[in-house]
Amino acid sequence: MSVNTSIEWCDHTWTLVVGCDPLSPACAKCYAALMAARLEAMGVEKYQGLATRVGNIGKWTGEVRFDESVLDLPLRTRKPGRWFLTSMGDIAHDKVSDAQIGSAFGVMAQAGHHTFMVLTKRIERLAALLTGTPLPNVVIGCTAENQEQADKHLPHMRALAARGWRTFVSYEPALGAVNWDGWEFLEQLISGGESGHGARPSLPAWHQAARDFAEKHGVKYLFKQWGSWGTKAFNASTGLPVFRQFPDFQTWVNKASTWINGGICLDTDGRELKSGGDMARARDEGKFPVTIMHRLGKKEAGRLLDGVEHNEGLDAPHG
Ligand code: SF4
Repeated sequence: MSVNTSIEWCDHTWTLVVGCDPLSPACAKCYAALMAARLEAMGVEKYQGLATRVGNIGKWTGEVRFDESVLDLPLRTRKPGRWFLTSMGDIAHDKVSDAQIGSAFGVMAQAGHHTFMVLTKRIERLAALLTGTPLPNVVIGCTAENQEQADKHLPHMRALAARGWRTFVSYEPALGAVNWDGWEFLEQLISGGESGHGARPSLPAWHQAARDFAEKHGVKYLFKQWGSWGTKAFNASTGLPVFRQFPDFQTWVNKASTWINGGICLDTDGRELKSGGDMARARDEGKFPVTIMHRLGKKEAGRLLDGVEHNEGLDAPHG
């Protein structure tokens, strides 16, 4: 069955593939593995043997399954909607056969009344397979959480776009700065921070850069969430949340006792600065401004970026 989802940018998740293996830094806190372990503990047959839970982290066992029983689900769903493939694994995992991937795209070709968002961290495999006529109701995406991953995925995404495929990027969790030059072909850019236990903070400057790039090049931009880390500071006149920054070392000396307010200090690389020595190093290395962030939880941190919700793409055609 499909899972009606709280993912902001789709109506249904299509859990054709369950199980995975970690591949990149974004996988370190894999939500799907934790969820699979929870579902197993609840006795859900589909998720038996896929993952174990170690504290608040889910660990995949290496088992990956393609669930034939839900293959035709979009065809059985008449009301047009936006489908996400897939939230509990990766359709391009090497334990999923070419024939199985082909059958999924065959269903998408038949289900023209739906829009499909296909997200993978293994975009090189999809790029190698998707050499035929692009499907107008399918948008192909990769996760690019930092510059290294963006650089790795760019040639494959560019090749898909050149063949006429619609493309998007999930910059979530954003774990480092990315120079988006070269990604002008995108239809949508989605960014967000990490939530859950042990979530890593995501600097406002990284999301601002993604937003500015998208706005400049006519790419739809969706800011999903801050995740666990936000700000306790508010603009005195507008009442909107604002991230405080120490522009230089002396401002930190003068304002630290009142501004930090239980938060953490991050240099321009997103590294936490815990001491005066760290601050001096950041100064010497040119890593100011230093940004203050607070652990708030997903709900309180919200999804305003510079006081604005960015929802482009949520109105994508539902058929
Ligand atoms: S690719 Fe996705 S599902 Fe697989 S381990 Fe990474 S975050 Fe989890």
